[in-house]
Amino acid sequence: MSNPNEDLLKTIISHAKEYGYVFPSSEVYDGLSAVYDYGQLGSELKNNIRQYWWKAMVQLNENIVGIDAAIFMHPTTWKASGHVDAFNDPLIDNKDSKKRYRADVLVEEHIEKIRVKINKEVEKAAKRFGESFDEKMYCETNPRVQEYQKQIDEINARFKKDLEENNLTDLKTLIEELGIVCPISGSRNWTDVRQFNLMFSTEMGSVAEDSNKIYLRPETAQGIFVNFLNVYKTGRMKIPFGIAQTGKAFRNEIVARQFIFRMREFEQMEMQFFVRPSTEMQWYEKWKNARYQWHLSLGISEKKYRFHDHIKLAHYANAACDIEFAFPMGFKELEGIHSRTDFDLKSHEQYSGKNLKYFDPEINESYVPYVIETSIGLDRMFLAVLSSSYKEEKLADGTERVVLQLPPFLAPVKVAVLPLMKKDGLPEKAEEIMQQLKFDFNLQYDEKDSIGKRYRRQDAIGTPYCITIDHQTLQDNTVTLRERDTMQQERISAKELTGILNKKTSLSEALKKL
Ligand code: ATP
Repeated sequence: MSNPNEDLLKTIISHAKEYGYVFPSSEVYDGLSAVYDYGQLGSELKNNIRQYWWKAMVQLNENIVGIDAAIFMHPTTWKASGHVDAFNDPLIDNKDSKKRYRADVLVEEHIEKIRVKINKEVEKAAKRFGESFDEKMYCETNPRVQEYQKQIDEINARFKKDLEENNLTDLKTLIEELGIVCPISGSRNWTDVRQFNLMFSTEMGSVAEDSNKIYLRPETAQGIFVNFLNVYKTGRMKIPFGIAQTGKAFRNEIVARQFIFRMREFEQMEMQFFVRPSTEMQWYEKWKNARYQWHLSLGISEKKYRFHDHIKLAHYANAACDIEFAFPMGFKELEGIHSRTDFDLKSHEQYSGKNLKYFDPEINESYVPYVIETSIGLDRMFLAVLSSSYKEEKLADGTERVVLQLPPFLAPVKVAVLPLMKKDGLPEKAEEIMQQLKFDFNLQYDEKDSIGKRYRRQDAIGTPYCITIDHQTLQDNTVTLRERDTMQQERISAKELTGILNKKTSLSEALKKL
């Protein structure tokens, strides 16, 4: 039996391709594994998400500035950051299917299955008890839920120990004892677990003897750390302050089977917030909350988000959590919020021999700042937005439509301009309205097929508004404005269009509500 969630992911992938959102990379050569290209609409949506993040972080916060560092960095950067020695994922192969997996992800998915069982028990009980249901009390007292929770706690404790001690032998034993099978072959015939470094390397310099191994950055954060001094001095920044950046990152992922969720070339949107030592926990809480509010401001259901504290902290962190999202494949990491201590700056001080301290005039002291990082994958955010806005609807007249209920300010095309007929001067009038609107909005013109079919095409790409030009328009300069989600139409004066559409679709209006 096919899994409905997998079916949804497949539907999203084919919809994204059919309508010019996302294509497999170099598809004429049958694609390249875990690399994707954004098409004519996808690149617009991606730009809009990037801009919404950038403006929310940089424009709305006086003490945050943005930079754009290079992808190539001095190779010592990655020694100092710990990536050369420790940027590994544990991999395991199934000998029968020859498929490769991340050992940690296999265990996490097993835990998630138990969690789903708890959720089902809770849902059943909530239905049974109705209004008087007390979820917390139920979870604390119900023997079945307690048993599941005990299983989760025990697995987590052992899993954490294995990861911390790098005990790959026990990690394999854990996978075997939990009875985890390969989803393809159904067998438990596993190889040993091995560590695998995720960084891509290449050589810089034209002559072989000169050549120097350099890495494609696996995260954008280090570009911020090595520019800390430059920005602090030239921007006259005062702690607490932040540096934001968006850009490509590269990881030679072991498993790359989940569309744009896990890619080998992807884009990150990161912000490092520099604070006085010992104040980091309060900033960590502040940024957790601020980032959560940013997500909710998109209008996606709160139920699709949850926090997940890391069970094993990275070598640089003293607190870390993920904002997870209910993707079609289940709840998975969308954004990480990490308290990175002073690890990175201190390490760059050591390796470079440069003083990377901040002089704090308020307390008359120099110190290496502590850092809170917010790090979100742009492509994962794209998938979150796309998958949660995809709807198949049955309409009152018995027909069906596919609609992308994208937040209007993120939609690639804001307005479609549709002359009712291809004659009587209606296309010319439509052209006049296009000229009026094109400086403020991304438009699409369509005169082919019936108006109903044209509405369906716009629904499928998520255009929030359609303007129809008919004979009455020629007489009184009014048009009908159709709203995508309600499908309601109202007649308005063409002169009012810019003002109305701006209120409904502009990024600045969305930012005001943040
Ligand atoms: P995962 O556990 O899923 O591999 P991670 O914990 O390694 O992710 P981070 O190093 O915290 O991820 O990176 C920050 C963000 O970058 C993630 O929250 C995610 O949104 C994004 N990201 C990381 N790896 C990828 C990838 N291979 N493809 C797309 N986005 C990614």
